[in-house]
Amino acid sequence: MSSAVVDELRRRLGDGKVFTDDFVRFTYSRDWSPRPADYYSMPEVVVRPTSTEEVAEVVRVAYENSVPVVPFAGGTGMGGGAVPVEGCILIDTRGLNRVLEVDEENMVVVTQAGITVSALNEELAKHGLWWPHDPESKPASTVGAAIACDNDGTFGIRYGKLADYLLNVVVVTGKGEVVRLGHRKALCSSTGYKLHWLMVGAEGTLGIVTEATLRVFKKPEARVVEAAVFKSLSSAVSVLEKMIQAGLCVESAHINCKKRLQFYTHAYRQRYGRAPEIPEWAEAILFFSFGGDRDVVEFSRNYASSLVEKAGGVLVKERELVESWWTSKHLLEFEPFKQKWPDSQRMKKFGAADLGIPIGRIEEAYRKYLEIAAKNGLEVLGMCVYHQRPNRVSPSISFAVFVDDGNPDEVRRFYKYVSEMSKMAVDLEGTMSTYIGDGERLGGFNKYEHGPAFDYMLEVKRVFDPKNILNPGKKFASKWIKD
Ligand SMILES: Cc1cc2nc3c(=O)[nH]c(=O)nc-3n(C[C@H](O)[C@H](O)[C@H](O)COP(=O)(O)OP(=O)(O)OC[C@H]3O[C@@H](n4cnc5c(N)ncnc54)[C@H](O)[C@@H]3O)c2cc1C
Repeated sequence: MSSAVVDELRRRLGDGKVFTDDFVRFTYSRDWSPRPADYYSMPEVVVRPTSTEEVAEVVRVAYENSVPVVPFAGGTGMGGGAVPVEGCILIDTRGLNRVLEVDEENMVVVTQAGITVSALNEELAKHGLWWPHDPESKPASTVGAAIACDNDGTFGIRYGKLADYLLNVVVVTGKGEVVRLGHRKALCSSTGYKLHWLMVGAEGTLGIVTEATLRVFKKPEARVVEAAVFKSLSSAVSVLEKMIQAGLCVESAHINCKKRLQFYTHAYRQRYGRAPEIPEWAEAILFFSFGGDRDVVEFSRNYASSLVEKAGGVLVKERELVESWWTSKHLLEFEPFKQKWPDSQRMKKFGAADLGIPIGRIEEAYRKYLEIAAKNGLEVLGMCVYHQRPNRVSPSISFAVFVDDGNPDEVRRFYKYVSEMSKMAVDLEGTMSTYIGDGERLGGFNKYEHGPAFDYMLEVKRVFDPKNILNPGKKFASKWIKD
């Protein structure tokens, strides 16, 4: 990149928003994706805009000079989406952190996209409102990145995924044009194309999201959280299906395999010096919650408990165990799970294949997961089945393993594992990714899932980004998977 580009950025943004020193550039050299410890990639220049117009100015400079641009938010992405590409301008989007409008009457918030999920909720709380998108990374991850990665969250089974909240977005395209996509504050529309939904999961390859209008909710008055163990994963899935069929409005539901269940029982033993009363035969644990008016949640708890018992499941008696699951989801405090990440990540990283598997094939996918991890010499961390469509069993599954990123061969084996798991998901009529995205891991390899539609995606990319300067390579070419 020529120094004239940096000078031009300084001229348009002002000196205080453009950075070229190594110390600043280095802090953007990785995200949370597994990669060898000494492998990093630096941007040429970092900019920190605070408005849509400033983002547009940056992209115009990039367009005029054919320089790549990478949007960066909290850096917690697990697919390498925010990792700088060679010679790029990196846009740190976190300066776009203002809430622009809280419309209580229409239950809608208009916000700049660089605000973190937690900060947005702090602002909404002042109005008695809540955005229920709830990833564990919420203190660091932003609204724009949640849209860009199509993330999942704890309350997906009640409120859905990003597309369910998103009414419109303002984006800066690859030509530096500013466009609003979507349908203002109406909650549904059948006019035009739903271009705002194209931004969901686009990982910054079609546009930089600078503003989002989201549906928000009142916080529930009361909540109950429960857990039950089952003899098989499929019985846990089937009880959840029965709860929904019965008319219960489940607020969150996570099914963990035996391996993950052992985290909880082991931690409990460590902490309290005795084992919790979990039967030997337990192969799966279902954590679930109901939120709403007190009487309704109490009724729901009792009804759900009766369904659990009818199905041969056993409710977990130890409240500490149940509540610490909730804590681990919501406060990023892992007590009493000291062996769970992030502590364990001081030794080894958490790496996942994030697959969508049809509901009848979860047992089969689980067996294959154990085989594929073993074949690649990786230690299994465990499987968690999240649900991400409102009011239905809708598995988004994290098949996690430990990855020692101090060991380049283990990182290589991890991506072999990801490719084999992803292929397995497609062969089971599922999908390769449900919350991480393609990033720089699945790009190109994802043709296995999309077939000829992959070329249509390239065409769409050309419409929004004719010079291929927006996060180039991401989604379309893999750095790690070559077959
Ligand atoms: C401890 C931990 C817990 C996690 N928990 C969850 C979870 O519960 N659910 C879940 O789904 N994920 C989870 N993740 C993964 C990660 O947090 C999400 O993918 C999140 O969206 C990344 O947000 P970020 O702000 O860190 O984005 P980054 O990693 O900085 O960027 C992610 C992608 O978004 C693009 N991007 C960022 N901002 C914009 C923008 N304004 N416009 C266009 N593109 C943009 C980037 O280019 C990149 O491709 C977790 C990760 C960690 C480390």
